[in-house]
Amino acid sequence: MIPRDRLRIAVQKSGRLGDPSRDLLTRCGLKFRSSRDKLFCFGENMAVDLLLVRDDDIPGLIADGVCDLGVVGRNVLEEAGLGVTEASPFRELRALGFGGCRLSIAIPQEQEWQGPAQLAGQRIATTYPHLLADWLKRHDVDAQIVTLSGSVEIAPRLGTADLICDLVSSGATLAANQLQEAAVIMQSEAVLAGAAEAPRDERGDLLELLLRRLDGVLHVRESRLLMLKAPRIALEAITALLPGQPMPTVTPIEGRPDDIALQCVCSGNLSWQDLEAMKQAGAHNMLVLPVEMMLA
Ligand code: ATP
Ligand code: ZN
Repeated sequence: MIPRDRLRIAVQKSGRLGDPSRDLLTRCGLKFRSSRDKLFCFGENMAVDLLLVRDDDIPGLIADGVCDLGVVGRNVLEEAGLGVTEASPFRELRALGFGGCRLSIAIPQEQEWQGPAQLAGQRIATTYPHLLADWLKRHDVDAQIVTLSGSVEIAPRLGTADLICDLVSSGATLAANQLQEAAVIMQSEAVLAGAAEAPRDERGDLLELLLRRLDGVLHVRESRLLMLKAPRIALEAITALLPGQPMPTVTPIEGRPDDIALQCVCSGNLSWQDLEAMKQAGAHNMLVLPVEMMLA
């Protein structure tokens, strides 16, 4: 293989993960120029390029060294990892907080779920045969796995399987096919994946820089700047209500010695209930703002 000095990241071309993956990398400060065939995006301000592919191809591209990194569902990554005989060639570097779903066993609505043992001897349709086989083995169940490449949810109606093991997010697709979720096999979300060993050349330094920026972006996305005013005597009660126990900056207000202004970055989302509880405790003029960038 021709040696590379630029880091290459595989992302889904379209589908559920495509846009959020590119948005996230853009928020990390990367700028891309797309090629005419829209399969390759050249990194204009850093030596980091994108390859736009089908999500199923991403683990293989990393394993073969064609790409250094990939943004892919944990479900796809772990299925591919179990599919190789040697130790998994991948590493989950960061969970990215989008594309959340679960891989679940679903049974016909008219059946009652009594636990994994009832799956013995049943035919289960799935596109994730390795993850399912691993779960069945851990639960000591002997069932028949019917591997399909898509449209798993209609298999029970077609009579090609008795039940299914598929990705679920809202459950609407299951309900539309008269199925119900019975057991969760794995929780999934989009992850940044890399090879089991990080590159040892300049790409390794780029990877570290990217991970640092990514951590900042992921942290900022969960953070809110809260500003409020309150009577000084209410300070302790209000501080106790701040989610994530941040260290607030408290400043006096000119001409109003009994009042203070408070400012802090809260990690995690602030809810209306949080604000109402602070108002009860004496806070007023509350303002919650998104955080754009953060550098400690
Ligand atoms: P491609 O054309 O790239 O092969 P695809 O149809 O296989 O696309 P998508 O349906 O876009 O892929 O799903 C990509 C990933 O999104 C899944 O592997 C999974 O991690 C995540 N995901 C989140 N919610 C769901 C859901 N309800 N159904 C399927 N995948 C979901
Ligand atoms: Zn796919």
